[in-house]
Amino acid sequence: MAEPDRHEVDATMSERVYLDWNATTPLRPEARAAMAAAFDCAGNPSSVHAEGRAARYLVEQARERVAGLLGAEPRNVIFTSGGTEANALALSPQLAVGGDKGPRDRLLISAIEHPSVRAGGRFAGASIEDVPVLSSGVIDLAALQARLDVLRATETGVRPLVALMHANNETGVVQPVAEAAALVHAAGGLLHVDAVQSAGKIPCDIERLQADTVAISAHKLGGPKGAGALVKRSEAIHVGDPLFKGGGQERGSRGGTENVIGIAGFGAAAEAAGNALAPTALRMAALRDRLEAMLRDISPDAVIFGEGLERLPNTTMFAVPGIKAETALIALDLAGVAVSSGSACSSGKVAGSPVLAAMNVPAALAIGAVRVSLGPASTDRDVDVLISAWRNLVAGLSKGRREVAA
Ligand code: PLP
Repeated sequence: MAEPDRHEVDATMSERVYLDWNATTPLRPEARAAMAAAFDCAGNPSSVHAEGRAARYLVEQARERVAGLLGAEPRNVIFTSGGTEANALALSPQLAVGGDKGPRDRLLISAIEHPSVRAGGRFAGASIEDVPVLSSGVIDLAALQARLDVLRATETGVRPLVALMHANNETGVVQPVAEAAALVHAAGGLLHVDAVQSAGKIPCDIERLQADTVAISAHKLGGPKGAGALVKRSEAIHVGDPLFKGGGQERGSRGGTENVIGIAGFGAAAEAAGNALAPTALRMAALRDRLEAMLRDISPDAVIFGEGLERLPNTTMFAVPGIKAETALIALDLAGVAVSSGSACSSGKVAGSPVLAAMNVPAALAIGAVRVSLGPASTDRDVDVLISAWRNLVAGLSKGRREVAA
């Protein structure tokens, strides 16, 4: 039976309304307890003595728990420092399957991937190609198929690696991963899936997704920052080119003494998130729907990206014409509410979200994109506080406009 989800915000956050769970999550109590216990584990997991074996036990217990969240075999879990490293580890021309060790010579990436995927791992820039998304934010499967066909017809022996995220971090839109996998495999390719945002929020069974490798991150599901994993669908898949070579840890795929404390916290968080998955998803979706309905009451012209599509139950990204995300974020923060925007700030200039640009959202609308992401501990009150702050913001802006016009 599903256990109640005790994922709560900590004391320092309790005065505030934290609605930025896609950026990171507070620690789950189970993760905190597992990490506190691991602090006293002095051994190195590679040592054969009792202290070493105690540390090894914690790592292997966590490996089973993380594997359980994805329905994978524990031996196919490679612990990393997070989602970024897991993506970089997978995206290599040397990713191999079975005895087939010839390098992958093309990387196809969906246009809405996280920057850690868009960076292309160890592929040379010239061998990386974009696959477009439709205006809905869903990958254009026909374009993927067409590109795979062309590669097969014109470049004999081209062996693609394709990267498609499970759910987008900004819009929450869930991608047709299993359909993409069928196309990729029929073309002799491999599929890497960034499930950093979906793991712990919706089912992520690696067999159902038919992903060859999956990246996940502890801090997005109630674990600590700085731990993650690359999970393989089968033992036949090899990371031919580890990022860190060293003492042979992680079956040679990731050298370096394991982050025992972080890994222990990751395992506990993954298990707790998995136990409470379905009821938590239902509750968050109901809260999210209520939030969107109330937002529409105040701002009938709000555009909700990915509305009506399969989305993460906790995520809504919207824009209201004439309201800049920057303005909204500051006003909401002052009102005690933490949300984020779909725009990135670099060198002092606010640029529109590449995800919305890939969806052909006009720049004037995209600069207003605000992302609200809920968590298992989010409440009706949190939504009420956000909505009341939004109402004040809209009222303040229209008063300002009236005064300017007068
Ligand atoms: N992939 C996605 C979709 C993300 O949202 C993030 C974090 O924002 C990452 C990868 C990177 O994960 P980490 O912060 O663990 O490096």
